[in-house]
Amino acid sequence: MRVLLVEDEAKLAALVARGLSEHGDVVDVVGTGGEAVSSAREGAYDVVLLDVRLPDIDGFRVCRRLREERVWTPVLMMTARTAVSDRITGLDSGADDYLAKPFAFQELLARMRALARRGPVPRPVELEAGDLRFDPAGRRVWRGATEVSLSARELALLEAFMRRPGQVLTRDQLLDLAWGGQREVASNVVDVYVRHLRDKIDRPFGTTTLHTVRGLGYRFSGEPG
Ligand code: CA
Repeated sequence: MRVLLVEDEAKLAALVARGLSEHGDVVDVVGTGGEAVSSAREGAYDVVLLDVRLPDIDGFRVCRRLREERVWTPVLMMTARTAVSDRITGLDSGADDYLAKPFAFQELLARMRALARRGPVPRPVELEAGDLRFDPAGRRVWRGATEVSLSARELALLEAFMRRPGQVLTRDQLLDLAWGGQREVASNVVDVYVRHLRDKIDRPFGTTTLHTVRGLGYRFSGEPG
């Protein structure tokens, strides 16, 4: 398969590239995040092996940028950092899998094969509905070009809606999704927060995307209407 290896440590890059070549893969090596973005954008690679610590922009940002540009080549992140938060950041930035250094070469090959089988499936990092955009990793929201400031709870509620466009969600379902099913929370708190959300994502923009469904709950229509 065709592999883009992004690794700034020359010795390690040479070692991995040689191993892959001997295995029959075709490998291009780059050493910076900037080169990684332009090469991945232009080359038809089956998989990108992406180091996290790079001299210019880090691997997380490289990955986010590729996904923003609709480059869906499977990405396997490689890093010495094994903290759970780093793994989560990697996956949230659109990486497909994660390999902690030092790794066994056989494991690298196995994970690459698994990713290449999946192929370049679109998997946007951001949720989009009309001109509303939600970045789940960065916890940020935009309506058109305007960034909207939301509290943690409002973000959780909006995410619940945006992941289920067109579905009627009851207050109990919304409590489960955005409040973690806290039973001590009164169900009218959902109504209060839906109002807050409308005041931030709809009303200032003259749109209506959060609809009340009488006797049932709420529905997020996605497209303004
Ligand atoms: Ca590095």
